[in-house]
Amino acid sequence: MKFIDTHCHYDFPPFEHHEAAELKRASQAGVEKIIVPAVSSARFSAVMALAGRYQPLYAALGLHPVWTEQHCDDDIDQLQQWLQQQPAKLVALGETGLDYFTPQLAAYSGQQISRLKAQLSLAKRYDLPVILHSRRTHDLLAGLLRQAKLPASGVIHGFSGSLSQAMAFVKLGYRIGVGGTITYPRAAKTRNTIAALPLHALVLETDAPDMPLHGFQGQPNRPEQIAAVWRVLTELRSEPAEQIAQTLWNNSLRLFPRLAAS
Ligand SMILES: [Zn+2]
Repeated sequence: MKFIDTHCHYDFPPFEHHEAAELKRASQAGVEKIIVPAVSSARFSAVMALAGRYQPLYAALGLHPVWTEQHCDDDIDQLQQWLQQQPAKLVALGETGLDYFTPQLAAYSGQQISRLKAQLSLAKRYDLPVILHSRRTHDLLAGLLRQAKLPASGVIHGFSGSLSQAMAFVKLGYRIGVGGTITYPRAAKTRNTIAALPLHALVLETDAPDMPLHGFQGQPNRPEQIAAVWRVLTELRSEPAEQIAQTLWNNSLRLFPRLAAS
C-alpha cells in the first residue's frame, strides 16, 4: 500500500536534523510523498530547502492564522516573491485559514480575514491549491471561499465538524483532510461525517508532529501513522480497503497536480 501525507510539519522536531532517518521510517510504512506546509514567512526558505534536498518532500508556503507573533508587514510580499519564481516542488499555498478557538485568537479576526483574502488572491493568480486551517470558522471560511472562486480549490485540513459543514466545502470543490481525529472513539461527529462523505472528497494527512493518534497521546505524531489512519478509515467506510487507499492517492494527485509533475 502506498500513501501521500498531504500535511506534515517536517521543519519542526522530531524531524528537523533527522530527516534521512525519519524519511526511511515513513517510506517503510508506504508513505511516498509528504507535503510540508510553512506556518510563517520566517520558515519559507527552510521549507523550500527541505523540498529541494529530499525527494519525498514537497513544499507549501503560507501564513498560519495562529502564528501571528511571527508575522510581519511584508509577509504577503515575501510570499508573492516565492510564488512568482514557481519553484518545481512548490505544490500549494498554505498553511493559511482562520482560527477563533480562543478569545485571544478571535480578537485578531479582522487581521486574520484580511491576510487570508490576500493569500486567496495569490493562490488564484498563481493557480495553486490552498491548504486551509479552520477552527470555529467553518461557515465564515466557506463564505470566503465561495466569493474567492479559486479554480485549483484546496483542502480543509484536520477537519472536524458536521456533515453539512463538510458538504458546504465539498460542493465548492474542496477536499477534506482526514487525520488522527477519526482514531478517537469520542470523536463521533467527525467519524460519522468522514464515513458519509463521498470518497472522492477525502485526502489523508497527519499534521505531524501534532494531532497524535488515539493511544499515542503525548508522543510526537509521524507520517508513518498515515497507515493507521487509513486502517481506521477502512473500518468506517463500506468500500474495499485497497480501493480506499488507491482513491485517496488519486485524489491527492488530482488536488496537488505538481506532486506528480516533479
Ligand atoms: Zn498544520
